[in-house]
Amino acid sequence: MGSTVWSDKRKFTWILSILLLGAFVLTSAISYQVAHESLREQIADNALPLTSDNIYSEIQQDLLRPIFISSLMAHDTFVRDWTLNQEQEPEQLIRYLKEIQDKYDTVTSFFISEKSRNYYHSSGVLKQIADASPDDAWYFRVRSLPADELYEVNIDPDSADKSRTVVYVNYKVFDFEGNFIGVTGVGLAVDKVKELVELYQQRYNRRVYFVDREGKVTLHGAQYEGGQSLQGTEGLTKYATRILTSPSASLTYQQQGKTVYLNSRLVSEFKWYLIVEQFEVESEQKLMNTFWFNIMLSVAVTIIIIVIANLTLGRYQRRLELMASTDKLTGAANRQAFDATYTRLLQKCQANQQPLSIVLVDIDHFKAVNDSHGHNVGDLVIQSISHALMDAVAEQGLVCRWGGEEFLLLLPEFDLAKSNQLAEQIRNNVAQRSIRVNGSEVRVTISIGVASLRDEEQRDQLLNRADTALYQAKELGRNQVVLSH
Ligand code: GH3
Ligand code: MG
Ligand code: MG
Repeated sequence: MGSTVWSDKRKFTWILSILLLGAFVLTSAISYQVAHESLREQIADNALPLTSDNIYSEIQQDLLRPIFISSLMAHDTFVRDWTLNQEQEPEQLIRYLKEIQDKYDTVTSFFISEKSRNYYHSSGVLKQIADASPDDAWYFRVRSLPADELYEVNIDPDSADKSRTVVYVNYKVFDFEGNFIGVTGVGLAVDKVKELVELYQQRYNRRVYFVDREGKVTLHGAQYEGGQSLQGTEGLTKYATRILTSPSASLTYQQQGKTVYLNSRLVSEFKWYLIVEQFEVESEQKLMNTFWFNIMLSVAVTIIIIVIANLTLGRYQRRLELMASTDKLTGAANRQAFDATYTRLLQKCQANQQPLSIVLVDIDHFKAVNDSHGHNVGDLVIQSISHALMDAVAEQGLVCRWGGEEFLLLLPEFDLAKSNQLAEQIRNNVAQRSIRVNGSEVRVTISIGVASLRDEEQRDQLLNRADTALYQAKELGRNQVVLSH
């Protein structure tokens, strides 16, 4: 019985563990998936477009300023009148350009006259521009812009200080009849724009950069680690056309095994695309951490549940075993418990040539006790006798309720003489005292049969000899011990 209970318990532990862990892992995995999906949606559909909008509007505020200033200059009647008036007294225009540069805090301000090809700058007449000079190519490019495009934005080295890069706004100037008379504008140091991009990048924790219509990266912050063009960026090559042909796009691509969320929009004033990117890494890592924390928690909870279940199970098992092995009325062992112990002791004592005795006890004329005092009192008398037997035997052997008012003592290490001694002592004790129950005193005696294990004896033979001895004790007048020799 013991071993099947043990293996049942192991099976139960396994099944419970698998069920619990399975359920925990499944729910963790599902909630991870759901969180992951909603995070993805959150980034792609909300956070990124919102950031893009914010950056766009701030860019507009900050970068559109030079365009407005240039537009203001191109439409200034003084500039146009002065040009039409044969560009007399250049100091006037130079002072005007200087005023613009100081007032709006730009890097440079300039005007090029179509007629004289003079390059007027806040510091004076810089030079005369020439068709052949590559440095001056921009002027002719602006001049030949389509009629509906009034200006262009481009990045060039500063004409006055070549080490500096400047974002130029080159604005076409027309006279009052609409004839082209020159180009004016201001320049903003790229460093300043870069700072701006850097600021957005840090504020929103995104990668921010600009590309031109061909996909070439035109502007980025100091910590930019992307490619030189959309086409040359890992994972983006196949999306370049899609980005460069629509006013705005939202997509995800893989870079170095990580998902990158990208949002693009055309900043029409610059004819550039603003690209805002976010790597999934951070929030993803948090989700992953939560997932593993959940799993660890699940394992811990499972272990605790298994331990508690096993303890409870063990307690129930022990109680069940006790219930299954003891007699309810007396607390003595029942026949089932006796059988197991008897088999074990018989083997052991026979193998080791050790003594083993059986003492059978039966209450004399017990029917009479029941008849005169009632069944309940009879029960209490049985209980009392049982306790007397258990006290006498204590740890030396097993007391078993053999029948209604019959008890069996199983005594290892007891030979016939020693058993006889114990039996006599018990018989005498019972005979000497009266049992007090419910106010009345009951006196009973007991008859005892004793048998000790012989070599090669079968289990039933020993029992039968004890039974015969008990029968003889009854026959001989009761209240006595008979030994089976
Ligand atoms: P003897 O000296 O020959 O043993 O006479 P006896 O009256 O004790 O006869 P026997 O042992 O054959 O009968 C036992 C009686 O004990 C029969 C039954 O009514 C009664 N008895 C058996 N079990 C219980 C029990 O659990 N409680 C009570 N109150 N009586 C029981
Ligand atoms: Mg009896
Ligand atoms: Mg009897």
